[in-house]
Formats: sequence, C-alpha cells, structure tokens
Amino acid sequence: MNIVILGAPGSGKGTQSEIIAKKLKLFYLQTGKLSRDWAKKDERIKKIVENGELVPEKEMTEYVKKYLEEKVPDGKNILFEGFPRFISQYKDYNEWLKSRGQQIDVVISLDITEEEAIRRLSLRRICDKCGEIYNLITNPPPKQNMCRCGGRLIQRSDDNPKSIKVRFKYYHDNTKKLIDYLDEKGKLIRVDADRPIDVIFDDILNRLAKFS
Ligand code: AMP
Repeated sequence: MNIVILGAPGSGKGTQSEIIAKKLKLFYLQTGKLSRDWAKKDERIKKIVENGELVPEKEMTEYVKKYLEEKVPDGKNILFEGFPRFISQYKDYNEWLKSRGQQIDVVISLDITEEEAIRRLSLRRICDKCGEIYNLITNPPPKQNMCRCGGRLIQRSDDNPKSIKVRFKYYHDNTKKLIDYLDEKGKLIRVDADRPIDVIFDDILNRLAKFS
C-alpha cells in the first residue's frame, strides 16, 4: 500500500509518519529531511529551506524520482510524507507509480488550527543525529536537550516566525488545493490532529484498515 501524509507545518506529519511506517513496514520517504540533507551540500537549497520556501516543483519531483528509483525501484509500500504538495506533483507521481503497476492508494490529511500548529512549532526540537522529533511539553525528551540516542536536540532552522509564515502561505496556496482535489477523488482521510499522538495513530490505523 502507498500512503501519502499531508498537513500544515506543525500538524504532526513527521511524528505520525515515523510510527505508521514502522508499524506497517513501509519505506518512509520524508522529503523535508531529504531537502535538509540536500541543503547541506547546496547553498541555494539551504536558503530555500531556511526561508520556509518550497524547492521548485519540477526540481523536487526529479530529485525524489531519482532517489526512489534507487531505493524503491518497484514503487511498492511507500509512505510519502509532505510529498506531493502540488496537484501536478501528484499527477506526475501517480504516473511514475502506474508505470510500475502501483498507485497512491490513500492520502491522509492531518487537520489542525493554525494557532495550535504555531504553538507546537515553537516547542518542537529535533535530534541532530537521528532526526527523532520531540515536543517539549507533549512528548518531552528523556534528558534536557538530549535525544534518547545521545544526539543533541536542536530547533529546526525553518522553525522561526518569519519562515513559519512563508510555510503556511505555501500550504494554503498549494497543498490545500491538492487536498481538496484528492477529496473529490475519494482518496482522502481527514484526521483531527489536535489530539494526543497515540489517539491520532489508532484513529489512522482503524481508518486505513478499510483501504487494505
Ligand atoms: P517539512 O519537513 O515537510 O516541513 O519540509 C521542510 C522543507 O523541505 C520545506 O519547507 C521545503 O523547503 C522542502 N520540501 C519538503 N517537501 C517538499 C516538496 N514536496 N516540494 C518542495 N519542497 C519540499
């Protein structure tokens, strides 16, 4: 099964994707992390990510295709987090999957108010070693500023008020349109993301069972 998880910044996409991919044994494609790794080698991409902008649509599509062709050439059992974010990116990807006899089976939209998302982003910390995500209140690390793997916890460079505003604008202008488009196609599950992590996770698993 191929699943896409979408949502506003701070909706919990990363947290849910990690546990769902583990539970359902899916290949976890996290385009945010791919972009941050890419940014380490490319100044132009670094500026884009830090400013909260999106990597140009076509460029991102090609980058992800190359990555998947190497990692998951059969196009099976992938969990896409934060990708596709545009209707055209979705169509392009479905074609890539179709050529492998696959498709995007279901899309999950994590719905949350902008106010709550912004609150979460200010409390989010990630491990600079393994990438694990914490929230200082709802999902605190075992030790202050330290991940359970021993890595250092940092704030993402795009979790600052100016970049957050830009990221929300991209979400409203692009991803929301994709979500409405998928809703019309009957591929969408809308999940209330303003609940505890385990409650959202159980809800998603129950609802995914109807698609498999
Ligand atoms: P995220 O971790 O999902 O919030 O993504 C962090 C950043 O990675 C975004 O602000 C973009 O710069 C980049 N990025 C992630 N997914 C995409 C995508 N599908 N298209 C273009 N840029 C992306």
